[in-house]
Amino acid sequence: MALTGIQILKMLPKKNCGECKIPTCLAFAMKVAAGQSEIDECPYVSDEAKATIGEASAPPIRTVKLGKGDSAFTTGGETCLFRHEKRFENPTGIAVLVGTDMSDDDVAGRLERFNSMEYERVGVIMRANLIAVRDANGDEAAFTALVRKVIDTAPKAALILMSDRSGNLAAAAGICGDNTPLLYGATGDNAADMAKVAQETGCPLGVRGKDLDDTVQVAEELINAGLKDLVIDTGARTMKAALEDNIVARRSAINAKFKPLGFPTITFPCEMTDDAMMEAMIASVLMAKYAGIVVLSDLQGDILFPLLLEQLNIFTDPQRPMVVEEDIYPISGPGEDSPVLITCNFSLTYFIVSGEIEGSKVPSWLLIKDTEGLSVLTAWAAGKFGADLIAQFVNKSGIGDKVKHHELIIPGYLATIKGELEEELPDWSITIGPREAGHLPAFLKEWKPAA
Ligand code: SF4
Repeated sequence: MALTGIQILKMLPKKNCGECKIPTCLAFAMKVAAGQSEIDECPYVSDEAKATIGEASAPPIRTVKLGKGDSAFTTGGETCLFRHEKRFENPTGIAVLVGTDMSDDDVAGRLERFNSMEYERVGVIMRANLIAVRDANGDEAAFTALVRKVIDTAPKAALILMSDRSGNLAAAAGICGDNTPLLYGATGDNAADMAKVAQETGCPLGVRGKDLDDTVQVAEELINAGLKDLVIDTGARTMKAALEDNIVARRSAINAKFKPLGFPTITFPCEMTDDAMMEAMIASVLMAKYAGIVVLSDLQGDILFPLLLEQLNIFTDPQRPMVVEEDIYPISGPGEDSPVLITCNFSLTYFIVSGEIEGSKVPSWLLIKDTEGLSVLTAWAAGKFGADLIAQFVNKSGIGDKVKHHELIIPGYLATIKGELEEELPDWSITIGPREAGHLPAFLKEWKPAA
């Protein structure tokens, strides 16, 4: 049962010291109740209160952590049905399958693609997160050898160990060290043995149900055995069934607080079709509707990249624009004769503008003014990118000491503030740059400091 802000406040030390970065205990309690702050952020709260509040304010979908360091992967922790209600917390993990029934070359190719396929978008590194290692024939030695190969070859991968045999999972988990794997999976037939291995190794356990009802039964058995970190597979192996199960599970957990389905889900598009494009399409549907992990049969750029873009779109916080720090950004090693440009701190603007400047090969200084993530025109209209604020920033930034000339290039969309800015910055001349970032290379190649 979730606690109210007032109930949480009663358990706080009420020092109103602000060390939690929130001015009063009451405001902090309200934020904890709303799931916007963690109780650990107050250094004075007792362990007992921490346990009580932590348990009561835990998200309805349990947070499950795998891996460590570069391979760290978190799934679950979700608190809402729709992204616009709050935000989705942890992006769907993309996994690739390798198995003991595959040839060495086949496995090596998949691992190579896992390692090499990495993309940068608006400053975010996007890549697949997990490798699912399947024990295809119950051979413990072959299974552990393959797990060892994956650990040695793909250090950024969190692992899903897949076997019907609890002993094989225990042996493979034993060589993973602190790269905590997901053990998959417990069924109605082997739940007790699997629970024992999960408890002994401290690893999260996957539930492999025959259908939704069976999944609930197995999950209840594991919860009663004391397990907390589960990941559920409802056994659906068609897109329609998997989509329906994901929705039922999320609604049951969020709306009805139904514990046996309050766990992230793992889905297997790789087992739903033999067609690579259809597999990608199924994965994209399941990512859009609540899959915690999607397991793919292989990784190819034309399949992985769109899935990663979808992941980026769904899991960015809709209430918080993506921003870069206010600062001076040197691009391509500028000197004292290099042009000085200014723009807003909306990430997309920064990456587009800096990319065009870099592409022009004209070394430049790019000033990024904090506009709270608003784009140029919106920021200007909101009073966050006016001449007075730009002048204050230019003066305090120290850019005047880095260049001999004092000429500032402003975005073309701010042409109307040129006169005002010249009044605010009497030591600088103001040049109106292009409206579109795509025209910057030609503009910069022609640019010369005013005599
Ligand atoms: Fe209150 Fe703790 Fe925050 Fe201090 S750190 S204001 S005691 S909640």
